[in-house]
Amino acid sequence: MSDRPSYPNYQSLFSALQGVEIIDQPQQVARLSLDYYHFSPVLTSLLQDRRADLVLRPQNVEQIIAICSICAQHQIPLTVRGAGTGNYGQCIPLAGGIVLDMTQLSAIKSISNGIARVEAGAKLWQIEKQAREQGWELRMFPSTIKTATIGGFIAGGSGGIGSLRYGQLRDRGNLRSATVISLEVEPQTIELRGSAVQQINHAYGTNGVITELEIPLAPAVDWAEAIAIFPDFMTCARFGQTLGNSDGILCRMISVHSHPIPQYFTALKNHLPHSCHCALVLIAASDLEPFTELVGEFGGTVTYQKPALEAQKGISLVEFSWNHTTLHARSSDPQITYLQSLFVNDPQLSLVQHMAEKFSGELFTHLEFIRMQGQVIPAGIQLVKYRTAQRLQEIIDYHEAHGVLIANPHTYILEDGGMKTINHEQLAFKRRVDPHNLMNVGKMKFAATPS
Ligand SMILES: Cc1cc2nc3c(=O)[nH]c(=O)nc-3n(C[C@H](O)[C@H](O)[C@H](O)COP(=O)(O)OP(=O)(O)OC[C@H]3O[C@@H](n4cnc5c(N)ncnc54)[C@H](O)[C@@H]3O)c2cc1C
Repeated sequence: MSDRPSYPNYQSLFSALQGVEIIDQPQQVARLSLDYYHFSPVLTSLLQDRRADLVLRPQNVEQIIAICSICAQHQIPLTVRGAGTGNYGQCIPLAGGIVLDMTQLSAIKSISNGIARVEAGAKLWQIEKQAREQGWELRMFPSTIKTATIGGFIAGGSGGIGSLRYGQLRDRGNLRSATVISLEVEPQTIELRGSAVQQINHAYGTNGVITELEIPLAPAVDWAEAIAIFPDFMTCARFGQTLGNSDGILCRMISVHSHPIPQYFTALKNHLPHSCHCALVLIAASDLEPFTELVGEFGGTVTYQKPALEAQKGISLVEFSWNHTTLHARSSDPQITYLQSLFVNDPQLSLVQHMAEKFSGELFTHLEFIRMQGQVIPAGIQLVKYRTAQRLQEIIDYHEAHGVLIANPHTYILEDGGMKTINHEQLAFKRRVDPHNLMNVGKMKFAATPS
């Protein structure tokens, strides 16, 4: 990296590129260098001062190719950014350099036969809206649907609303193709199809700039929204599991929350009496009758129902699910942080119960039901009253020792977060498309040492 010019010389390298917006105003650069890393007190201390030297906002693929070529020629680090809603500092540049803002590449190129072909900077809500106009909808989306881009979701996300039916992004079939530009003096444009897409899926933008994607859609359903409350948490959780297992009731989301989490949902307070435990549900409007019956069988009460026609308007329960739960909790109590866990072998929810009791008062249980290898299982996004990094690690270790899989949200290192193993395919692809190790430097642990 010795011949890497220092800012402001960068600017002169890129100023000849017609049409590329160059952002160098320090406050804007700071904003576009950061994401939602602050959900983790551990990441906050590590990342809060990291900044790009310059942000570039290209308008088209040709400009991206030119930027990649200049970065390779001058050994300038490059970090790709969608909407910057990632939680683990995925798009925070650790080594300065360029942040490449993808938001202007937002075209929805086609929606046909259940497949959407889109540019990487397209917002998820735009894809959902256009798909619905043609009788389709996204198979899954994060609770940040209103702001997040599809490229950021594929490179940095995992699943969300819809994962109850379709599993996670990494599951076979959920991504059909990706077009990627390499970071070389003469950048290559590579189209990945079939299982080859896994090379860039959830790779944090460490191995190529994704410019275009093909994603499968689902037939559109008229989703209604409902809240059911229960007097005790395990009944609420078992209701969620039973609803998820009910093959004749079509749900898009089952989001279960133990007291005191419902108290953080101030906009829903009229429907959430004090001390209640609740399930927030997106359900086919035609299935409300068996749903209501099941709530009754578990001794619960439906306190809120929004018909499908109105579900698109006003407040949506989506914005209280997944990591939006953490967002609401943290706006009441900034000491709160979270875990991400998979209860892979717990059909009776005994481990869920054990963890809730073991860490009572310190850990508040939030479950999202998802489909994993054909089974509906609870994925925990438990809230934790943060004390110290050591205590947080003890809680993680205890879960892992009991067979709960933890996708650690308190690390920015790709391999340490989810699978905890080297992904040899992703690493090999990185060596091919980023031979100088300039992309999102420091995020892929086993990447080649910078030349
Ligand atoms: C309140 C809240 C709720 C959330 N809920 C969910 C949820 O339900 N499910 C979920 O999975 N996530 C969730 N997230 C995390 C995040 O919002 C999503 O993963 C989102 O899809 C990221 O999209 P983005 O455009 O903001 O990506 P960014 O944060 O901008 O980027 C994410 C990663 O992708 C890389 N990247 C972005 N674009 C490209 C590209 N074109 N080419 C190569 N790499 C690229 C970046 O370098 C970075 O590593 C949540 C976050 C918050 C703050």
